[in-house]
Amino acid sequence: MTQAVSEATAALYQDVIIDHGRRPRNFGDLPDATRTVEGINPLCGDQLTLHLKFDDGVISAVAFEGSGCAISQASASLMTGALKGMRTSDALALFGRVHTMLTVQPDEQTPEPDVGKLAVLSGVWQYPARVKCATLAWQTLRSALDEQSNEME
Ligand code: ZN
Repeated sequence: MTQAVSEATAALYQDVIIDHGRRPRNFGDLPDATRTVEGINPLCGDQLTLHLKFDDGVISAVAFEGSGCAISQASASLMTGALKGMRTSDALALFGRVHTMLTVQPDEQTPEPDVGKLAVLSGVWQYPARVKCATLAWQTLRSALDEQSNEME
């Protein structure tokens, strides 16, 4: 069996997740949000409200509120950090890469998705019960992007 990351890297990744889970970034309301979308993971009880502000097809501001386990909070925190300044098409592409990373066994991910700092979430696929915790923020993002692009057509 191939190991995707070394034990040292896995421990580092875990520290980052714990830190973001305890002190989520971009947590709070966004009064001038263009889109507010809610997501729920009933398996674990995670809840998420994602606020996005779009300016000319670019995500100019992003925040989230909600409660849930450390992985759901950390994933939302890391996601919001990555999204700011992205075009909606790039955000959708990032959704696809992260979704692959979280749901497909590393050996079968070809090419290996380039997800930057979000690689800290790469160990989650090993824990099927936690995958929905980690993907919640991303599925919620996808709904928000779908609504946004439908409106622009
Ligand atoms: Zn959870």
